[in-house]
Amino acid sequence: MEALYLIKLGEIHLKEGNRKDFIATLKFDIKKRLSGIPNSITTRDGRYYLTIDEAQAHNAEYILSRTPGINGWARALKAEKNIEAIAAIALLAMRPKVAAGAASFKVESRRADKGFPLDSYAISREIGGRILQAFPQLRVDVHNPQTVLNVEVREKAYVYTDGEKGVRGLPVGSAGKGLLLLSGGIDSPVAGFMMASRGLALEAIHYTSYPYTSKEAWQKVRDLAGVLSRYTGTITLHTVSFTEVQLAIKKDAPADCATLYLRAAMMIAAQALAEKRRLSCLVSGESLSQVASQTAENMRFTQSYTNFPVLRPLVGTDKEDTVLTARMIGSYEISILPFEDCCVLFSAKHPILKADFEKERRAFDSLGLVPLINTALESVESLEIPFRFNC
Ligand code: ATP
Ligand code: MG
Repeated sequence: MEALYLIKLGEIHLKEGNRKDFIATLKFDIKKRLSGIPNSITTRDGRYYLTIDEAQAHNAEYILSRTPGINGWARALKAEKNIEAIAAIALLAMRPKVAAGAASFKVESRRADKGFPLDSYAISREIGGRILQAFPQLRVDVHNPQTVLNVEVREKAYVYTDGEKGVRGLPVGSAGKGLLLLSGGIDSPVAGFMMASRGLALEAIHYTSYPYTSKEAWQKVRDLAGVLSRYTGTITLHTVSFTEVQLAIKKDAPADCATLYLRAAMMIAAQALAEKRRLSCLVSGESLSQVASQTAENMRFTQSYTNFPVLRPLVGTDKEDTVLTARMIGSYEISILPFEDCCVLFSAKHPILKADFEKERRAFDSLGLVPLINTALESVESLEIPFRFNC
């Protein structure tokens, strides 16, 4: 038996000129995630349908709920084109809604096959009547119904109720590809998710400081990249050892500037890798004034070490909202594991809050860190984390 899904697209519909490209990108993305599983995606009258073997329905639903560019989806039931058969599946579709406590409904019908004897209005009336008979506790509300039952009569009849939510946004890759600075914290995975749902494909870079940071801290970051890959598709994680850079900063720089200088060094390395990988921007989990290195003055300083746009989707977000998103995407439980990805050995009690731009630029440049950063980049380790179901 086959399962059929109706896919509702989001902002793609607002795109005038290049809608076709967005739709092709989304279709390619869904197909890639379903690779190895026979399926078909068709477009009819501005609607998108996915057909897949019933045994793969759970995988299809996994993907539809996590692929950016999809606003929502609904499992559609299919019937022969006669009103008895349509009524039977309409009752089937309504049953879970009633069980979940729906009190009101309306039926919306589309008759694409004009040869069908009842017009749209008559279909809605007939099916609505049957539903009321079967579920007398329901009432019809055409203005503000709790459930909408859709009937479409085409080469077959299809019935679906309002479905599940998708992550919305734009298809991954439609906005190019960026490099996410991924730490083991709560913020950066959320930042990656947010940019992916604006259409940005991602690679990730993570800086380690062995032996000051642990193997477990890295494994945590790898697992976070795995969570992200549910939304972005396959993601490449680049790991760069920054121990020598951090030791040099600790040796030669004032303690209160250590974190700030480290962030600048991270920007330099990230830009070099992004250039090499032909990526178009950097993404970070910074949020204005969350910690000392994220004041506007300090961001100006760190930003000045790259000429790439640094996208900071959380810049104006309250931490509580970030945590809610982290829980929703499934990264939170990993992020709060105790393994730290930066060592207290390198961070000052009272870090500088407002960098004097010219002064700190001179001080940082005089450390001469670029050769150390380049050496660190030479031994980058890149790991491809493939999209997987339920990873
Ligand atoms: P997060 O919760 O993501 O760790 P944070 O609130 O802890 O963020 P910081 O530790 O100051 O903030 O880091 C700010 C941003 O710098 C992070 O969101 C991330 O983008 C980047 N970053 C920090 N540490 C690393 C690291 N070890 N490797 C790669 N990027 C990092
Ligand atoms: Mg952090």
